[in-house]
Parts: sequence; structure tokens; C-alpha cells
Amino acid sequence: MTKHLIVLSAPSGAGKTTVAKHLLATFPILTFSVSATTRPMRPGEVNGKDYVFLSRDEFRRRIETDDLIEYEEIFGNYYGTLRSMVQESIARGQFVVFDVDVKGALSLQRAFPDDTLLMFVAPPDMQTLETRLRSRKTESEEQLAMRLARAEMEMGHRDDFDVVLVNRDLAQTLDRAEAIVRQVTVGAPEQSSLFGS
Ligand code: 5GP
Repeated sequence: MTKHLIVLSAPSGAGKTTVAKHLLATFPILTFSVSATTRPMRPGEVNGKDYVFLSRDEFRRRIETDDLIEYEEIFGNYYGTLRSMVQESIARGQFVVFDVDVKGALSLQRAFPDDTLLMFVAPPDMQTLETRLRSRKTESEEQLAMRLARAEMEMGHRDDFDVVLVNRDLAQTLDRAEAIVRQVTVGAPEQSSLFGS
């Protein structure tokens, strides 16, 4: 069945971003839902591409004006899905990939129950997750502890998802994700024609 909203969730460090990037590179009909956030930009991130980076005041204003389909406070920062981003993509006939936390994923499913596919990317085990997070070297010890505690909570929600991809072998995980996306985008118009090529 066709699903226009393809939602990826995972504890940070499970490989979700890699899966999302692979899907976006493989299927031109997919577009990424660039979320708004109040967290500081990481090196290499681009405003408007990775996130729309907002001040807390601006984010609160967006909440009040109902610009966000869902939002959560995670690690002391706000993250939320911009309504305009999703509406414009759907209007263009595209399918939208989301990288959101488990609560955001469940909110999207509640908002669009017939058009949402929830995919959970799970690490093989918690030790692997910790090793991956440490090797990333983007977080302090304190932030790392917070992320690991949250990872436990997120893992507890995996059964709420339509698909669970256990990321043991990245190539296999990418293949499985690709096969699933191929199924839910069946019936989509010729992919390249959307881009005029
Ligand atoms: P990071 O700071 O590592 O980029 O993201 C932290 C967490 O926030 C990740 O689990 C990511 O999926 C989640 N996240 C990013 N954007 C959104 C959003 O728009 N809504 C929700 N609920 N979570 C988000």
C-alpha cells in the first residue's frame, strides 16, 4: 500500500541518518523533512538543509502559530516537524522521509494514520550503540549518558513500529530499507518526470 510519509526513528548512533541518506540518494521521489530545532549547529551542518535552526523564542512562536505538526523537547532542545515542509512536498507528489524521535514518529502516525510508514532502526545491542556514539565524538560524557538513557526508552517502543531494521550489517540494512520503500512508493508517477528530466 502507498505511504507518503516514511518515518525513521532510532536511538542516536543506530545508523538512522545513514539509512535516511541512502534512501534519499536512491529514490529521487523522496524528499527529506527538514525539522526545526533549537539545538546548536554541529560542524558541517547547513541551516535549512539539516535543520532549520531557530532560537527558543522563534520556536515557541512557531508552536503558537501552529506551524509544527509535532514537536518534542529532547536533550533540553526543541525539535519539530514543519507543516509547510510536508505540505509542499506532498503537493509536489513527493514522498517524505522523516528523521524524528519515537514520540514524534507516533505523533505523525496519529496525524496521518493511513499514509504513514514507521521504520525503526535498532542497534544489534546497547554496547554496539555506545561504541558507535563514542566514536562519533560529537558529544560530551554527560550528553552521551543522556543519549544512552534515552536510547533505552526508544528501544522500548520498537514494537509500535511497522518495520524494525536491526542494523547488524549496514549493506543489508540499506537493502532491506530500500526494498520496503520500493513497496510503499509503488504506483508513484515516473520518478524522473517530477524533476523535469
Ligand atoms: P540530533 O540532535 O542528533 O540531530 O537529534 C536528536 C533527536 O531528535 C533524534 O532522535 C532525531 O531523530 C530527533 N528529531 C529530529 N528532528 C525531529 C523532529 O522534527 N521531531 C521530533 N519529534 N524529533 C526530531
